[in-house]
Amino acid sequence: MNQASAAIGDPLSESPAVAREELEAVFADIQSHPLYDHELNGCLNCGICTATCPSAHYYDYSPREIVQLLWTENLEGIHDAMQEKIWACAQCYTCAARCPFGNSPGGLVMIMREAAIKHGMESAKEVLRPFSRVMLKVISTGNQLAPNMINAEHFPDWGPHISKVDAPLTVLRKAIPMPTLHTLETAWEVNLKTSLELYVIWEESGVLDQLETMDENLFDVITDIMEEKRDDYDDWLEDQEDEDGDDDD
Ligand code: SF4
Ligand code: SF4
Repeated sequence: MNQASAAIGDPLSESPAVAREELEAVFADIQSHPLYDHELNGCLNCGICTATCPSAHYYDYSPREIVQLLWTENLEGIHDAMQEKIWACAQCYTCAARCPFGNSPGGLVMIMREAAIKHGMESAKEVLRPFSRVMLKVISTGNQLAPNMINAEHFPDWGPHISKVDAPLTVLRKAIPMPTLHTLETAWEVNLKTSLELYVIWEESGVLDQLETMDENLFDVITDIMEEKRDDYDDWLEDQEDEDGDDDD
């Protein structure tokens, strides 16, 4: 079978056709997610989820459509929805509370997003790009988003009106008596040992693998920081041993 006959795609689309194997691999990952059978029990196609979905009011997006694509195993449609539509969901789970079948379209969207990341889809890279500074901050310090990161420069996808929110935020933060809101560097102290334990969790849970797929440069920066911290911790342990040895003498 040649490449053209092995691939599936809309003949009118200018996007490259996606190989059948890739469509099947993406769906296999979605279907094998531990929560998949819990989130999808069937579908009446009644549209209650879409009628109550806030994102459906503002975007070309419908949770009913997402559930139908999965329920009917429409591999091309699923792949297509992962290029843009799944990123419109606000993860509010109103749909899950209303579905007479007990489905969770929002939960299914989350599973599809994970698959989009795993398969290095361009849509996932685009959506996550503005969060690279947040990721760097969280992973390198074990700390939260700092207030000085909430500005138009770091979140271009928030649109031109972010500056209107950003300006009064500075005033509001001064008025709110919460010390962590005024901190620009770190909100709390994370010691070296805790940092390294967090790295192990991110390594073992596959977070760092996902990060490497999404943003290789950021992954390299974080790996360097991680190695440096591990060296620092080894040095600290050696110092402790030396001190203990001196005390025994
Ligand atoms: S997911 Fe539930 S609410 Fe939405 S169309 Fe299907 S059965 Fe109806
Ligand atoms: S979780 Fe997503 S799909 Fe469900 S109602 Fe909220 S925005 Fe809509």
